[in-house]
Amino acid sequence: MPGTPAEQVRALRRTVSDLHAELVRYGLVVWTAGNVSARVPGHDLMVIKPSGVSYDDLSPDAMVVCDLDGAVVEGDLRPSSDTAAHAYVYRHMPEVGGVVHTHSAYACAWAARGEPVPCVLTAMADEFGAEIPLGPFAPIGDDSIGRGIVGTLRGHRSPAVIMRNHGVFTIGADARAAVKAAVMCEDAARAVHLARQLGDPVPLRPEDIDRLHDRYRNAYGQRP
Ligand SMILES: [Zn+2]
Repeated sequence: MPGTPAEQVRALRRTVSDLHAELVRYGLVVWTAGNVSARVPGHDLMVIKPSGVSYDDLSPDAMVVCDLDGAVVEGDLRPSSDTAAHAYVYRHMPEVGGVVHTHSAYACAWAARGEPVPCVLTAMADEFGAEIPLGPFAPIGDDSIGRGIVGTLRGHRSPAVIMRNHGVFTIGADARAAVKAAVMCEDAARAVHLARQLGDPVPLRPEDIDRLHDRYRNAYGQRP
């Protein structure tokens, strides 16, 4: 990302603020739950949602800039109560540029069941390349959630983890990719839940999952 650190931060404030509207658009959040953050590339900083502010009141200026220990560097509001988890992910996964957290309903149903979402649809093979894994139960307020996210997603193809009895955390190369993963996670959680009402979903063969995932990552979409 070109520009001075101040210009980078200004641009990411807008990006992160705008991406929160996508959580609303796709029905992934209620009230003030959920949050998006973005790493400031090349700097030990992130831009994250303020705590307890209505989605209608979010704006670029309301976003909070924190260091990767979660301390506020710039901003008038307190950062999200999930800031420590986001910061832990950025510290331990240098390839991650964006993190999203939601309590989207169908994914939370799997979280409440303590069950990963099995990979039984081509769209799941495309996006997740595997089941959507289940992370541990972790108390809020220390590094437990961050440790659970990193411990589950490191070395896993899935950009989404369902944290037991809690909700979804997703990662991406940037914040937009992490938001996409959150949208796809809820869609998959819903579809597989519906399939369960009809009987036992039919698993995909591992070799078919591999082929689908590879094609989606390397051949799908418009050429640059
Ligand atoms: Zn939460």
